[in-house]
Amino acid sequence: MANSASDILKMIKDQEIEWVDIRFTDLRGKWQHLAMVAGVVDEDMLADGFMFDGSSIAGWKAINESDMILKPDLDAVYVDPFSATPMLIVFCDVVEPSTGELYDSDPRSAAKRAEAFVGQAGIGDKVFVGPEAEFFVFDDVRFDTAYNKSFFEFDDIELPTNTGRKYDEGNYGHRPRAKGGYFPVAPVDPAHDLRSEMVSTMIEMGLPMDKHHHEVGAAQHELGLTFGQLVETADRMQIYKYVVQNVAHAYGKTATFMPKPIAQDNGSGMHTHISIWDGKKNTFSGDGYAGLSDTALYFIGGVLKHAKAVNAFTNPTTNSYKRLVPGFEAPVLLAYSSRNRSASCRIPYGSGEKSRRAEFRFPDPLANPYLAYTAILMAGLDGIENRIHPGDPMDKNLYDLPPKQLKKVPTVAASLREALRELDKNRKIFTRGGVIPDTLIDSYTELKMEEVMRWEMAPSPVEFDMYYSS
Ligand code: GLU
Ligand code: MG
Ligand code: MG
Repeated sequence: MANSASDILKMIKDQEIEWVDIRFTDLRGKWQHLAMVAGVVDEDMLADGFMFDGSSIAGWKAINESDMILKPDLDAVYVDPFSATPMLIVFCDVVEPSTGELYDSDPRSAAKRAEAFVGQAGIGDKVFVGPEAEFFVFDDVRFDTAYNKSFFEFDDIELPTNTGRKYDEGNYGHRPRAKGGYFPVAPVDPAHDLRSEMVSTMIEMGLPMDKHHHEVGAAQHELGLTFGQLVETADRMQIYKYVVQNVAHAYGKTATFMPKPIAQDNGSGMHTHISIWDGKKNTFSGDGYAGLSDTALYFIGGVLKHAKAVNAFTNPTTNSYKRLVPGFEAPVLLAYSSRNRSASCRIPYGSGEKSRRAEFRFPDPLANPYLAYTAILMAGLDGIENRIHPGDPMDKNLYDLPPKQLKKVPTVAASLREALRELDKNRKIFTRGGVIPDTLIDSYTELKMEEVMRWEMAPSPVEFDMYYSS
């Protein structure tokens, strides 16, 4: 596409845009913004960037060296459907004013470096990523009672409010039973309109969407975002989360991407499909297992070998590890298979060479998408370069393996603390080519260890339940 600054100014004029919202993503993955009055935005600002104070972003610059530049990516602009006055969202990269280089600790810049690194390594010229982010929609009031059992006895509390259909507060005649939400039509599925509006809003913004459905958990949902290139898809994931949360908000609900909001029910994953292309050739397609090439198998070998370190980015919260337990369709074992969903890596059946890809099932949607896709890619590239074969596929239900065999299969990290330790030990996989530099890993680890410490030091309601009267 390649927009110029004057194309953007024309867009601002033609569409009577009043605000230019410059956006970037912090280390934790939260989208941040700064709204500029459209009238003051000129060609120079669009081309060279906006100065801002980076010291207030957790894990970024110290106060004495806080000036930074937000440099617009003019091909990543979207009209915001939620702003009361017309507003243009502009994705930005963070640039160091002293050197003009992309900032070490900017996640979007790391993802850009990762895309470039694939080319330098001579492996391909495009990385395609297809994420499936799941989420829960809750009612505001019940959100406050998250520890209370009654919270999830009233499952599927999201209800259509914009259809003109009257909702009878007391009528729970048709609602999903536990684990009964997956696929029955309305009124058992009460959130069809809510999801439709989320998807329509994303389509209106220019995202390639293809479906939506209720998920297996109570009040859990998934929308289908079509695959795209790595940075492009990470941008789209930021929009996806923004739209999900804002549409839910407009309905008087809250949406959460917390991986495990409800004990004993399914958690939310962000399964991540990935393939590397070289020109028009899918390098993952070949005549090996499930139609995969050696390149693909080595890629899988690398990701499985380094998975515990990758977990620090793909499963970045203390809550993430409550999802990675047996029995809820989330993976625990580091194995691959074309058949079953209990493996960490699944090879989906596709219609042909073009759709040949690996699906990694451990990531969750609280992951910073730029860092998560980059980390998977870097671990996979290490596998390709060092010809790390993933061993034999595991085509049986891994949850049913006899204990003796089970013991031999490696697992994902058991906690954020463990994942961060593995990241530290294996940082070379990610720092190659300056893709995820040491400075980013250090500040990320510091932020995340604060979360670990806060969680480990706080007594939990579960401990009261277990120990108060002991
Ligand atoms: N919710 C499951 C997870 O935590 C995935 C369900 C599915 O296969 O879509 O990964
Ligand atoms: Mg799903
Ligand atoms: Mg999946």
